[in-house]
Amino acid sequence: MTAIATLGSHCALQVLKGAHDEGLKSILVCERARESLYRRFGFIDELIMVDSFREILEDKTAGQLEAQDAVLVPHGTLIAQMESDEIESIKVPMFGNRNILRWESDRGLKEQMMEAAGLSIPETVKEPSQIDGAVIVKRQGAAGGKGYFIASSPEEYDKKRGELVADGIIGKDEVLYIQRYIRGVLAYLQYFYSPLQKTLEFFGVDSRHESDIDGLARMPAEAQLGSKKIPSFNVIANSPMVLRESLLQKVYEMGDSFVKASSELVAPGMNGPFCIEGVYDENARFTAFEFSARIVAGTNIYMDGSPYSTLLYGEPMSMGRRIAREVRTAKEQEKLDDVLT
Ligand code: AMP
Repeated sequence: MTAIATLGSHCALQVLKGAHDEGLKSILVCERARESLYRRFGFIDELIMVDSFREILEDKTAGQLEAQDAVLVPHGTLIAQMESDEIESIKVPMFGNRNILRWESDRGLKEQMMEAAGLSIPETVKEPSQIDGAVIVKRQGAAGGKGYFIASSPEEYDKKRGELVADGIIGKDEVLYIQRYIRGVLAYLQYFYSPLQKTLEFFGVDSRHESDIDGLARMPAEAQLGSKKIPSFNVIANSPMVLRESLLQKVYEMGDSFVKASSELVAPGMNGPFCIEGVYDENARFTAFEFSARIVAGTNIYMDGSPYSTLLYGEPMSMGRRIAREVRTAKEQEKLDDVLT
């Protein structure tokens, strides 16, 4: 029997509920501190207890998963806690394309992929001395928006960077990535590409609540001006959105070109879930500032399906369940090699 396994964080509940609904065994790799949380959910068939998620790199944990024909579903926690080389070395078969995760973590590769996909992206500012308008300063990897800041001049950059280093939020020699700040409506577009059917499904869209930049907007202007603290973009929660229907054609076009570019740059391409993240400006033009090459936590909103998955499926279909269905179908058709790396 094939099993679905994932690390106990991020979107593990959704992924394992989806596995259960598709009749697959569900296995959680669980850190001891969270055991009592995850034991509350009856759809989790087995917990493999670890002191740290990094034990998935070791033969003992990997062996336990391999012995059960488990497929590991990678998510943001895996990317945040492990280096690309480590992720690629994991012995357990992974859903989707493990090699594309490196392209998500590395800012240079990420930019290359987005350009190849023909996405409109914010201009990168190479040096702090070249800042001549609002920019957002980002950390490398999946930092989740923590330690990011906005600056409008080289002096403001130096001052804020210095404060964050002094507070121990960013490292003294850390290389930061500077990108033009785009104003508009933020939207995180969730897709699934089926390597079996060779079709793209637009699954949903969410907005994020980020602390404490969102809190700053709730303060009157005088209080904002008096506030000395540098706001962060740390994601706390997600909310559902629907887009104007006239935007959907372009949403599909962006997803299709992303899938095409990734198949040319990193075989076997963008299989499974991914997300294109960006901003709609006043002319409803989309600028993409990020992508995630795996399931995003924003899909947790739609455990019972989203407006868009409802249009595609006559049953409740979460992203987690969609992954499990692809695995189950691949197994039935003896095509597991097409959906795993
Ligand atoms: P990221 O880690 O790139 O997803 O960025 C974290 C958050 O920073 C996003 O959710 C946005 O709120 C904000 N952000 C990132 N890039 C930009 C940008 N170029 N313009 C405006 N806001 C941005």
